[in-house]
Formats: sequence, C-alpha cells, structure tokens
Amino acid sequence: MHFRSSVLSETEPSIEPSATSSAILIMLSYINAFFALILLCSKLDNIDGAAVKSRGLGPAKPCSPDICKLPDCRCSGVDIPGNLPKEKVPQMVMLSFDDAVNGQVYGFYETLFADGELKNPNGCNATATFFVSHEYTEYQMVQALYHNRHDIADHTISHRTPTSWWKSANYSQLTDEIVGQREILRKWGQVEVEDVVGFRVPFLQIAGNTMYQVLYDNKFLYDSSMPTQKFMDPPMWPYTLEYQSTQECVIPPCPTGE
Ligand SMILES: [Zn+2]
Repeated sequence: MHFRSSVLSETEPSIEPSATSSAILIMLSYINAFFALILLCSKLDNIDGAAVKSRGLGPAKPCSPDICKLPDCRCSGVDIPGNLPKEKVPQMVMLSFDDAVNGQVYGFYETLFADGELKNPNGCNATATFFVSHEYTEYQMVQALYHNRHDIADHTISHRTPTSWWKSANYSQLTDEIVGQREILRKWGQVEVEDVVGFRVPFLQIAGNTMYQVLYDNKFLYDSSMPTQKFMDPPMWPYTLEYQSTQECVIPPCPTGE
C-alpha cells in the first residue's frame, strides 16, 4: 500500500490535503518527511507556571545539542536519535487526516482500518491521527474513531476562509477556535480533553508566535502545521521548540520566540 501527500505540490488555499487524499506518509528512516512535528513541550505538570514562564522571554536562541537533550528537549535536525545507524532505524509511518469526519469519508476510514488490514509489527492494529474541524462533522463517528484508539486532534471550529484570516488571527480569536474545538470534541465526541494534544492549523497557515503561545498555554503537546520541502531525504525528526529551528519557513509568519 502506498500513500503520498499532495500537500507540497498544491498552492494556497488548496495546499491542505483533503480528507481522502491526505494520508501522509512519513518514512522517518528513509525518505519523505512532509511535516516536521513540533513538540511544544514534553512535560507540563503546572500549566499556570508554564504559561507565565513562556511569556515575554524574547527571541529563541540557537539550539545546542549539548544543552538540549532528549527526552525533554531536541534540536531540529536530521541526526538520528540515539545515534542509531540508519539501517537499524525501524520504518515509521504516520497517517493523518484533516477536516470534518462524516458519512462522506467515514466509509473509507472503516475500510482502511478494518481489523487485520493494517498492523504494527507488535500485532496491534495501526491507528491514525484525525485533525477534526467542527463544521460538517458527525460526532458519533468521532466517538467511534476515538473508541478504536485513533488519535483525535484539533483542527479548529470554523476552518474559515479566507486563508489570510488565520495569518493575522489574534490570541483571543485563536483561543476561541482551538480551545473551543477541543471543548466541542469533549462534549459531542466524548473525547477526553487531556487526550486532545495535537493541532494542525487550517490551510497550514500558521500565525507565528501567537498560535504557538495559544497551543502552549492550553497544554497542547504537538503541532503538525509546518510542511517542509527541504528536509525530504533525509527527513527531519520531530523536535521541540525551546530554541531556534533550522527548518525552512514555507508559509510565514513563522515562530521566532522561545
Ligand atoms: Zn483542513
């Protein structure tokens, strides 16, 4: 079975893959990294303290691997964690789908994830991440996906156009869209709030530091909004955002703060 994303070959606003065409394959050990996953933080035991700490600290500094170390910190880059030789790295595939979950696409998901169709090496069923936006979503289907252990993530309430709205959205507007959708997922999809930890912005149109501040302040743990064309082979591994990223900025405004 072969998946590929159309994300990098299309232009705004259709840059974002549709639900049925966006099965995104990331073969971290070898070839195509379409998104660099940005890990907002690995530990947020005290969100109030963390939020205060993150504000107003100025521009991010260059990342030093001597200071920024796993498991809590990782510099952006293509070096393999643990210095594993390339041929020893297991192939990893990430499947993700965006937008409304409803009858138009649910049959495809059912077929794709039918028992026994896609398995991990340990025998468990493969799962995907669903970045769910509110409009046109039928929440009993979200509930079923969640029940089957798929990762339910946030893709905002309105997914509104124009794309430029997302570019200039302020803190309050983004909070309404992002935290609001998590609350809707809780209320109508029965998805626990603490299980909604991932985010992808509509049209991949990020809003610089503001968007990441909203995500951080509200305990989101990762973002999957920034595509890359430069780091395809070898791909960039997921990294944390305490320091400057070396990933290119395809769709500005990009984050600059720490
Ligand atoms: Zn979308």
